[in-house]
Formats: sequence, structure tokens, C-alpha cells
Amino acid sequence: MATSAELMDRAVKVIPGGVNSPVRAFGSVGLTPRFIARADGPYVWDVEGTRYLDYVGSWGPMFLGHNNPAVRAAVQEACERGLSFGAATELEVQIAEYICETVPHVDMIRMVNSGTEAVMSALRLARGFTGRDKIVKFAGNYHGHSDCMLVAAGSGVMTAGVPDSAGVPAGCAQDTLTATYNDLDSVRALFEGNPGQVAAVIVEPVAANMGVVLPGEGFLEGLRALCDEHGALLIFDEVICGFRLAYGGAAARFGIVPDLVTYGKIIGGGMPVGAFGGKRDIMQKMAPAGPVYQAGTLSGNPIAMTAGLAQLVELHDHPEHYERLEQAGERLFGGIESLLSEANAPCTLNHVGSLGSVFFTPDAVIDYTSAKTSDTARFAEYFRFMLERGFYLAPSQFEAMFISTLHTDEMIDETLAAIGEFLS
Ligand SMILES: *Cc1c(COP(=O)(O)O)cnc(C)c1O
Repeated sequence: MATSAELMDRAVKVIPGGVNSPVRAFGSVGLTPRFIARADGPYVWDVEGTRYLDYVGSWGPMFLGHNNPAVRAAVQEACERGLSFGAATELEVQIAEYICETVPHVDMIRMVNSGTEAVMSALRLARGFTGRDKIVKFAGNYHGHSDCMLVAAGSGVMTAGVPDSAGVPAGCAQDTLTATYNDLDSVRALFEGNPGQVAAVIVEPVAANMGVVLPGEGFLEGLRALCDEHGALLIFDEVICGFRLAYGGAAARFGIVPDLVTYGKIIGGGMPVGAFGGKRDIMQKMAPAGPVYQAGTLSGNPIAMTAGLAQLVELHDHPEHYERLEQAGERLFGGIESLLSEANAPCTLNHVGSLGSVFFTPDAVIDYTSAKTSDTARFAEYFRFMLERGFYLAPSQFEAMFISTLHTDEMIDETLAAIGEFLS
């Protein structure tokens, strides 16, 4: 079989940068990506046959570990009935009913094919519903790669949007206003500077795309109050937090009711799925019920819905999965905390439940500016050290560690031993 290096040589000739999503290229850690051949439980194997304990979990979906037998069996059975119909199915009704019954702040939901699409559509809906154009987002929060969301990494409060990517027209970005995470005054200033113009505030209720950054005391409550005061919608981007931090996501964990939520990752059980949902009066504005257009040839695909529903049912019916992840998170992140303080390492750990990040900076990380003080060269050393010892971490300082329910105490202790060795 070809090696990862050989595959990368072939890949770069036919796929830009050799990968279909940039972080997979391992650019920031200076390595050739490992090409993965298969995965099972908490492990992935590369094409060379090396086994890694996986702390990426396909960036979240593999909550129950890879290749969950119930999800796999449901998918195999569904495949017998055909892969796609492009027509309404009972399955779509079932999964929508299921989510609306089990998530209190979702009255109606629409399925799409990725988190990017979910956010893009939710923003259009917020604009259509309020008749306003501007969106507030936070520096360092990632909401997929639609034009108006590729703004903000780094732009300061009160500045008009400047795109982060070539190819985003200035006109698309100018209605995106950037606030500072954990800074309600920055949000208030944007509302006051743009009276009656802000359609929505979109936020990662726990930020996980600048490394893990927790919402400070009162931050999410404050956003809720500011949105109410100014007639804007509050959108929780739960693409990572949804069904992970609690079955009801960050909204349930922190007890805040958003107007709309976006989902991705976990909701598809490993298949490409996204969704957005929320209050009935807002969702009813979607076509064909209402005037806000949105569509998708493969949306609600029967195989994807089967995988998603099977995983959601498993999560909902077995709250012990969440208990296990909390315990595993305490063991791993509590252990890392002790190692960092024993080694007197100039690092900061942020974590909640099964999500966490070690930042190679001594400063508290509360927003994008503080996250960027991290020593990314030191992170790259850490990443390479761990990979060599069989631990597959996200290849960037600005990503989370994801634990699955199949990461045992013993595996976590092995991970801690390796981290301890790196720090000493
Ligand atoms: C991953 C992610 C997205 C984008 O989802 P894709 O399925 O990659 O398009 C959006 N928002 C958040 C918070 C994410 O983590």
C-alpha cells in the first residue's frame, strides 16, 4: 500500500494543497499529513498501519467512538433501500420530530449538508425575519466558510468587516460587524453604532475554533439581553457544542434560550449533515412556507438521516454517555492541569466537559487576541511528540481536543504520561 508521503505527492498534483479541507494538510505543524485508512472505537490507523489514539474524532461527530455498531448497522440497512430519492421521506419527518421533541428550544428544523450551509441559511433567515442586514460575530469564532462569515479573525471592534480570504467581495463583508469574545461592551457599542440595523448576533457559545475559550460569567446572558433590547436574534452556532456539552448543547448546559441554533458535525453521526432550527414564528419564514429561499438537492439524504438519527437516539436514551464524557474530561484535563503546574509550564488550559485546549501561553485565554499570544512553534513540537507516541491530536494550536465515550481511564492515563514526558 502507498505510504502517506507517497499519497501526499500524488494528492498535491490533483487536489489544491493535497487536501479537501485546509487543516488536514498539517501545515502548521510542519509534517506530511497521515492518510487514514480506517478507524474503530477510539482509534484511527494510518495507511502505514500505525494505530493512534484519536483526539480529533472527525472534529466532533465521533462522540461514541468510530464505527459505532448501532449507527453502522442502521446505515447498512438503509443502504438496501436506496441511497437518495430527492423526494420527501418519512425519515426526515422522524428526525425532525425527534429533535423538536428532545430539544426544548427547537420548534422546527431544516436539514442541510454542512455546518457552513446551516450558518449561511440561518443568517439569511435572520435577515429575512428582521428586515435588517447587519450581523455581529466575534473575532476568532468560526462559522464555516460562507462569504460574510470569513471576516473577523483579528479585526478590531467597531471596524467594518475586512475579509480574511481572497475572493470575498468587500461588499459581502461590510455588513459583518466584529465584536470581542467575552466583551459585552464591544457588542453594546456595535448595537449603538448601528441602531436598528443588526439582524442577529451569532456566537459559538463555547468557542472551539480559536482553541477552546469559555464564555465568562454573564457573557451569554448579556448577549441574550442585548439582543432582546435591540430587537436582534441570538444565534447559537452549536456545530461543535450541540449534543456534546449536553444533549441540548450549550444552550441547555448554560440555560440560555437562543432564537436560532445551527448544528453540524455530531448531528450526522459521521455523515455530511448540518441543520438549523429554532422558534416556530421565525422558522415559518423559510421557503416554501415563507419568503426566505433555501434549498438542497441532497438535503435530508436518507443515509445521512439514518446515521444522524441512530446516533441522536443513542445519545438521548443513554445519559450515561454524557456522564462518562464528563468523567473522562475531568480525568484528562484535571490531569493536564496538574502536569502543567508541576512542570511550572508557561501554558494555559481551557476546558469544559469533553472539550479542551492547552495553549502555549502563560496568559489567560479569553478571546482571540489572548489566544494568539500562544507559541505555535512550541505547539508544533508538542503535536509531533504526541503523534510519534501514538496520540492523534488536532494539528493546530487553535483547535480542541475531543474525547469519545470509548476513551478509557487507562487510555487517558497513557495520554497524560506522554504529556508529562513532553513537559519534563
Ligand atoms: C465546523 C464548524 C462549522 C462549519 O461546519 P462545516 O460542516 O465544516 O461546514 C461552523 N461552525 C462551527 C462552530 C464549527 O465548528
